[in-house]
Amino acid sequence: MAKYKQTDTENGQGLFLSVNLKEQLIPGTFEYMLDDLIENKIDVSIFDKNYKNDETGAAAIPPPALIKLIIYGYSKGVKSSRGIEELSKNNITAKALARDIEPHWTTIAGFISGNSEMFKDVFVKVLTYCAELGLIGGQTFAVDGCRIPSNASMSLSGTAEELRKKLNVYRRMAEKHIARHQKKDRNGETDEKTEKNYQRRQKHLNRQIEKISIFLENIEQKEGKRGKEIKSNVTDNESAVILSSSGYIQGYIGIAVSDSKNQVIISAQAAGSANECEHLPRIVDDAMENIQAAAVETPGGTKRTLLADKNYFSEENLKACEEREIEAIIPDSQYKRRLGENKEMRYEAGDFIYHEEGNYYECPQGKPLLYCGESTLSGVEGKAYQARAKDCRVCPRFTRCTRSKKEQVQRP
Ligand code: SF4
Repeated sequence: MAKYKQTDTENGQGLFLSVNLKEQLIPGTFEYMLDDLIENKIDVSIFDKNYKNDETGAAAIPPPALIKLIIYGYSKGVKSSRGIEELSKNNITAKALARDIEPHWTTIAGFISGNSEMFKDVFVKVLTYCAELGLIGGQTFAVDGCRIPSNASMSLSGTAEELRKKLNVYRRMAEKHIARHQKKDRNGETDEKTEKNYQRRQKHLNRQIEKISIFLENIEQKEGKRGKEIKSNVTDNESAVILSSSGYIQGYIGIAVSDSKNQVIISAQAAGSANECEHLPRIVDDAMENIQAAAVETPGGTKRTLLADKNYFSEENLKACEEREIEAIIPDSQYKRRLGENKEMRYEAGDFIYHEEGNYYECPQGKPLLYCGESTLSGVEGKAYQARAKDCRVCPRFTRCTRSKKEQVQRP
């Protein structure tokens, strides 16, 4: 029987190893490229102005180390500051990127939240470098979005009125909780475990009451597109209740624009709004600004095309793209429904010709649709015209003309 070497690594015991951190970044990998980019290719001295410790004060964590750690963490799906701190302590690649510096999670959180403008500057510098390498075509772009959950509970969302009701519910719950506990106390039914549970629950209820009360004192009601009040969130009021593939979440819509040549992302933004459609003009402007700032050359001409899915279809968005001389290719929400069973496009209103003389329409098969009175469809008033059943029954284009099942037209 073959014998194999065995090691004692299963019991979780640590090892003392001699490690050369530089050797942990292997050429050709994402980590190597990230290190090279931030250390050698991109100037991140813009962050220096945050520090005033040249003469007094402790030495700060170098911004390049923080930037690399954060990007590396995100690339591995570690998005929390505590998680990134953990990486800097226990992950050898993260250690190599940060040159064995282990920042506290508060430093990481402060760096992320306090430098959004400077990150934009770094983003443009990365784009400039990509442009120098000829990675950006600058002509055809695609826009898409994803749902990002925020660190806030949907149960603390609501209009001002809804939150007032929630506050009253929590107050009633707290009162009941105290009364129940006092009763148990009187009956001598409390022990250490129930006391602990009581304290924990009471603390939670008090915290919720305090949070909602403070929020309601300073609430600035959020208005939707039609001027109606929309839900605010007590913990993170910039986020919104958003429909995702797994149901409603409290969070943001992340929207990115990528260039078609090498899928380099040229703009990325987050919006606390349930409707990603309304953000298209803003994100297109940002993408074009970045392209200009990165001095992207477009040898193929300046004609630009934007591709997006039906979530971005609206008359305003098409007009906005036209004004910016961008050809927008965006399907409308009825696009698929208009396809017949054989995937041919369904006829649209424009395929029917109106004849003033006789007040009738002529269908694509040359058959008349006769006026049959006033009608209201989806709340819109208009005139109704109808084809004759005997014409449609034998029509070879029936499936392109109507969504009715075949047998429905058999009726006279
Ligand atoms: S089904 Fe055929 S005949 Fe009837 S309206 Fe449509 S195109 Fe004309």
